[in-house]
Amino acid sequence: MDTILEQAYSPDQFRQVGHQLIDQLATHLAETHSQQEPTVIPWQTPDDALAHWRVDFAQPKLTDPSSLFADIIAHSVKLQHPRYMGHQVSTVAPVAALAGLLPALLNNGMAVYEMGMASNPIERILCEHLAGKIGFGPDAGGLITSGGTLANLTALLTARACAAPGDVWQEGSTSRLAIMVSEEAHYCVDRAARIMGLGEAGIIKIPVDDRYKLRTDLLEARLQQAREAGLTVFAIIGSACSTATGAHDNLTALADFAEQHQLWFHVDAAHGGGAVFSERYRGLLAGIERADSVVIDYHKMLLVPGLATALIYRRQADSYRTFQQQAQYLFADVDADWYNSGKRTFECTKSMICVKVYTLLRLYGEALFTANVDTLYDLGQTFAALVQARPNVELALQPECNIVCFRYVGHQAELPMDRATLNAVNQRIRHELLADGRFYIVQTRLRDDIWLRVSLMNPLTTETDLTALLEMIDLLTD
Ligand SMILES: *Cc1c(COP(=O)(O)O)cnc(C)c1O
Repeated sequence: MDTILEQAYSPDQFRQVGHQLIDQLATHLAETHSQQEPTVIPWQTPDDALAHWRVDFAQPKLTDPSSLFADIIAHSVKLQHPRYMGHQVSTVAPVAALAGLLPALLNNGMAVYEMGMASNPIERILCEHLAGKIGFGPDAGGLITSGGTLANLTALLTARACAAPGDVWQEGSTSRLAIMVSEEAHYCVDRAARIMGLGEAGIIKIPVDDRYKLRTDLLEARLQQAREAGLTVFAIIGSACSTATGAHDNLTALADFAEQHQLWFHVDAAHGGGAVFSERYRGLLAGIERADSVVIDYHKMLLVPGLATALIYRRQADSYRTFQQQAQYLFADVDADWYNSGKRTFECTKSMICVKVYTLLRLYGEALFTANVDTLYDLGQTFAALVQARPNVELALQPECNIVCFRYVGHQAELPMDRATLNAVNQRIRHELLADGRFYIVQTRLRDDIWLRVSLMNPLTTETDLTALLEMIDLLTD
């Protein structure tokens, strides 16, 4: 009889369970892609879901995990389904999931060179590649980290080290520091600033215009106000795009402003940065090449499972200052320590995230990223046109990418609905869609009103699926 440890490490069991799991997942792909499986979200209340797993946990030990795997699949949202239109995470290219088995099993925690002899060079190559696509020069470089949230915090720490007065790392804060950012920016920027001790006053939120873009005409006055209030602004952040509406800030105007006032210019392109691979949509990012730092999630528009985020600096040397004020690398060889990637990232044990991205690029080239961005952003336009063609729904704004906010406005007999009724009806539509489960969309609040929101993340979604969603909303409001 094998010991429990021998069983746990058995290559034969791994092979057998692995084959079964791949078969299960391939069936899942086939059934969702063909929509033979109609459910996108098998909605359960949190209490019901908890009860289900409590019962499961109390069961006798499994002899084979395939029933468990099947149960997890059955109780999860099916992003591979063309009617998945919910949150902004990629519909994973299946081979990227397979590549993810390598870091999972090899577990080379790549912070120091020897523990990442494959992954540290691969990560460097990917960062140089992305830097080139952004339009940065030869001094650029960066790192890959666990998500846009952590990447934005990392970038703002670098910004503070490079662009704020004093030595906060050594001495703590001696002046009242502040950043400027759109009121529509992702909440993680606000969180990062608070973690850094900037407080409420240190987050200068600039209002947006009617297209939900940061109002650059207000920047000068807000900076003066901040200075008069004793704040030292050290960075400005552009959103490309903002999360709720998919609106892209005017990065060129922000770059001009940052340059004029010697502020660090950070671009949060977690979602929209993938458009560097698109000739058709690259114009949305004009000015990104003038940023000091840029965040791009591979796990949103670039088909990779989460978390996989690039943080690219215009001057790679800056990245060595994030976690140490003394710029010991600045005057030495900038490349000196590129292979010990942990010096520049939060993670100590860091997964070989880059392997998943690299595999896609080696197998399909950039053309895969281009096709995904173009297809999904085109679908955003298609959906907007469908909404505009129907009298009972309206757009919040003309979409710039694959995020579209819209709402039901009532049919003839109901018009016009007052604001409270509109909000209540749209909230009800979203709840009923969730309970039904054949589509998955989300909702958002814009200027205190409820809007339905789709992020079209699955390139297998077609116009037929989009029309079917609007027809379903007709049924729910009949
Ligand atoms: C998704 C997103 C984030 C957060 O990134 P995570 O990878 O989810 O941590 C930050 N900013 C923007 C603009 C985003 O779209």
